[in-house]
Amino acid sequence: MKIFDYLESHDYEQLVLCQDNESGLKAIIAIHDTTLGPALGGTRMWTYANEEDAMMDVLRLSRGMTYKASAAGLDLGGGKSVIIGNYKTDKNPEMFRAFGRYIDRLNGKYIAAEDVGTTETDMDYIREETEHVTGITVSSSRGSGNPSPSTGYGVYRGMKAAALERFGTDDLAGKTIAVQGLGNVAYHLSKYLHKEGAHLIVTDIDKERVKRAVDEFNAKAVDPKDIYSVSCDIFSPNALGAVINDESIPQLKAKVIAGGANNQLQTEKHGDILHESGILYAPDYIINAGGLMHVIEELHGKFDLNSVLDNVKTIYNNMQKVVEISKRDHIPTYLAADRMAEERILSVKESKKAEDKLLIAQKNGIAK
Ligand code: NAD
Repeated sequence: MKIFDYLESHDYEQLVLCQDNESGLKAIIAIHDTTLGPALGGTRMWTYANEEDAMMDVLRLSRGMTYKASAAGLDLGGGKSVIIGNYKTDKNPEMFRAFGRYIDRLNGKYIAAEDVGTTETDMDYIREETEHVTGITVSSSRGSGNPSPSTGYGVYRGMKAAALERFGTDDLAGKTIAVQGLGNVAYHLSKYLHKEGAHLIVTDIDKERVKRAVDEFNAKAVDPKDIYSVSCDIFSPNALGAVINDESIPQLKAKVIAGGANNQLQTEKHGDILHESGILYAPDYIINAGGLMHVIEELHGKFDLNSVLDNVKTIYNNMQKVVEISKRDHIPTYLAADRMAEERILSVKESKKAEDKLLIAQKNGIAK
């Protein structure tokens, strides 16, 4: 892998390799872009097949965070970190403390958070060495706990904005919504949908979760393989990535796709097909940003859920902006989302440049 070529081609700022013999720490921190603010992104612990896979994962994910934070209107940049190892057998507190010391040396340029393979307790160990971590336990002074309720609310808000565009009303009463996956995010989403009077068709591989949705939300349950083809207005993926693919698209009856799962499109081509078929896709990172809005609240000192939910409400407007750009530029919504994120970063970069120019001019005594 030609690492500098790759960093240059996607305009990365910094890559940090962290290694500590005593604890066995082997980690990589990738900072993609800090134009809008410090790079916030989770710390993933995973047994990668090789170092190159770990490197590609952290690079790809950190860039994704830049887009997510920018499109959400947050003053945050994009970063991510990975710890190489088995999260069930290789962890020890000293590993996370050593990692915390590495993060601390970056002076706030990178902020860690919980991710696949790491827990709130791991974040507490990092917190012993640095302030630049979020997602610590609720019992600690400013911990925010599980962000899924905020993510679920954001998906609901984004879905309403998409419904307004496709059905001419954002009222979901009477609409039929097929919900794939009934985990943390989808449970909270389904609560809002049921309260508003939507009919739910649900599926999960976990039978207990299906039963809970049937009992609490009067949902109709179907087999996981049948969820794509049910007759519905909205399909909501909340389980796995890459579910919008060559196999699922021909089965879909929905006119809107809006869910919380990450990386729903198997490839960009599938976003193009949806666009051509008149199915409105609410881009995943636009409408599942509620979790990110939740964890950054911790950085403001005292955690306040009402203030988080006020912010998460604006996902409705973000989805509307995506639709506007899609219509303005005649492009699919997944590209419109990227454009929205890039436009914001570019405008901040330009105003920073103009400020720098003015400062230099003032220094040289030529400013009026
Ligand atoms: P979760 O693990 O609580 O829920 C996922 C659910 O999907 C589980 O109940 C699981 O049994 C079910 N599932 C797995 N395979 C399935 C299949 N083939 N068919 C049907 N159901 C299946 O996870 P979560 O926290 O609710 O997250 C859901 C998605 O949202 C993930 O893609 C996650 O990356 C994304 N996301 C979550 C958050 C958050 O705040 N939790 C934030 C942003 C994005």
